[in-house]
Amino acid sequence: MLHLIADYKGALTVNGKDFANIDEAIKAFSDYQGQLTISIKPTVVEPKVDKVFKVTVRQYMTKPATPEFDFHTKWNNDTPMPMRTMVGKIVQETKGMFKMELHGDITEKVTDHCLVCGRTLTNPVSKYFGVGPECGNHSYINPFETEEQLRQAVAEVRKQLQNVMWNGWIIKSAIENMEELI
Ligand SMILES: [Zn+2]
Repeated sequence: MLHLIADYKGALTVNGKDFANIDEAIKAFSDYQGQLTISIKPTVVEPKVDKVFKVTVRQYMTKPATPEFDFHTKWNNDTPMPMRTMVGKIVQETKGMFKMELHGDITEKVTDHCLVCGRTLTNPVSKYFGVGPECGNHSYINPFETEEQLRQAVAEVRKQLQNVMWNGWIIKSAIENMEELI
């Protein structure tokens, strides 16, 4: 009987005895044959607030509101997301939406899609910057003579991206990719 809820994570009471978790309850009642009265305490939902996510949204989340798509008017003070890929925390959740506090960031050594517009990046310098020449307003040609200069330039771009902030509601179905950053 208790094995049926073996995946349950919280505390529970079985026949009047409190247990911190299901494993302890199973152990205590392993030889017991009679009837079990199980009461489960409401699970404390693990807060996601401490977790940091990288979220990539479909392009329409970065477009200004239109009469056909007035989501940003209704939920985000008419402020669309400034970048397709951003980093931050979930502060609220509904069935269909996340409210997130986001900022731009370079999270990998090389990035394959422009963090701002989502276009494929081909130029090596752009890949280090995480943004294409248009979105990042930089040159296609590698202007750096040393690895160190490049690293400094990347750090500079990263700082700029980190200053791009956006707080608001994201439609879950508009999320192309979402991963927890460790
Ligand atoms: Zn771009």
